[in-house]
Amino acid sequence: MEEWRQILADSIVKPKDLADHLGVDPKEIEAIVGDYPMRITPTVLATIKAQGDAIWKQVVPDQAEMADFEAPDDPLEEDLMSPVPHLVHRYPDRVLLMVTNQCPIYCRFCTRKRLVGKPGFLKKGELDRAIEYLRVHREVRDVILSGGDPLLLPDHLLDRILKALRSIPHLELIRLGSRVPGTLPQRITSRLCEIVKKYHPIYMNLHFNHPDELTPEVKAACGRLADAGVPLGAQTVLLKGVNDDPDVMKRLVHQLLLARVKPYYLYQADLTKGTNHFRTTVETGMQIIRALQGHTSGMAVPHFVIDAPGGGGKIPILPPDYLVHLDEDGALLKNYENKTFHYPQPANGHGPFDLAQGRRELPMLGAHPAMSGCSDGAFEDA
Ligand SMILES: *Cc1c(COP(=O)(O)O)cnc(C)c1O
Ligand code: SF4
Repeated sequence: MEEWRQILADSIVKPKDLADHLGVDPKEIEAIVGDYPMRITPTVLATIKAQGDAIWKQVVPDQAEMADFEAPDDPLEEDLMSPVPHLVHRYPDRVLLMVTNQCPIYCRFCTRKRLVGKPGFLKKGELDRAIEYLRVHREVRDVILSGGDPLLLPDHLLDRILKALRSIPHLELIRLGSRVPGTLPQRITSRLCEIVKKYHPIYMNLHFNHPDELTPEVKAACGRLADAGVPLGAQTVLLKGVNDDPDVMKRLVHQLLLARVKPYYLYQADLTKGTNHFRTTVETGMQIIRALQGHTSGMAVPHFVIDAPGGGGKIPILPPDYLVHLDEDGALLKNYENKTFHYPQPANGHGPFDLAQGRRELPMLGAHPAMSGCSDGAFEDA
């Protein structure tokens, strides 16, 4: 057996093992792991410093998962946007392809809690059908391998999938979403890197939520992927009691850049059944962006997005006060120090975009409280 397979097999999956290692009463979580599986890799276990800390909360089952109000199982309505099994086609030119439902750890806040870690996910022929869909849908230029975690697939299967995708001429980008480098860094072997290298451009977005996850071992794993020519981004979920704090988030984004990973998305937590105890207000996320933008490297600032319930896709959210006012004369702006600036529009510079779209969409801006005291009525008749 490959070393990483053995390490994965040494993970904590049974309530009894959790009791041995972390002093949790196995009876308390027996019922939870029946519905929502648990896995804690040795790397993650070693990062837990105290009961209830930021790493613990992400992986140790909690009674609140079962006592949840009626939130949907599939809040992003991925099942409805799935033309063939395991493929979600929500945006015009890119699709999400779930190649496995196994993960190195089972995050308690997972949006796909209904799917991950359960037996019988990928049935024979389903992957071929998904690849066939991509072959005939020439509008798709970007495919995201997700799951579950694609880096848990055995080398030969990953190689086969990447090869099949690369044989489709209109597919420009292949992306992988993975929590493996941060939780099972031993999986990033030189053999894996050699496989990935054959199919560039390959991008990876790695899941990280807390600065303590960036141990020297984890940073080295990210470095091996970066050395293999893979541009690395990070996806972070905003989680109550884990990272809903500007100082924690600033340490996280700095650690990510040190690990050669560029913060990409900060997600508002989805409305998934069994995960509501992790949700924060939207203002918390805006406060974090406000604390980063301008105060530290622009490279460190992720896009804060809400994946709209009901399948609306990711919608970017900025603190509302950067653009105080906009009309044909110019933009009234506020910077990170709360100082006000004016940017004049070009004279006679109005193109079809401004008239057809800008004017129609801007009244919403005019309705915002930040606009009071700035009422020239420019948009009132738009
Ligand atoms: C997030 C997501 C994508 C990729 O979105 P980007 O903004 O391009 O990173 C594609 N499809 C689905 C269904 C997604 O949820
Ligand atoms: S690694 Fe991703 S898909 Fe897997 S349990 Fe965690 S959040 Fe869900």
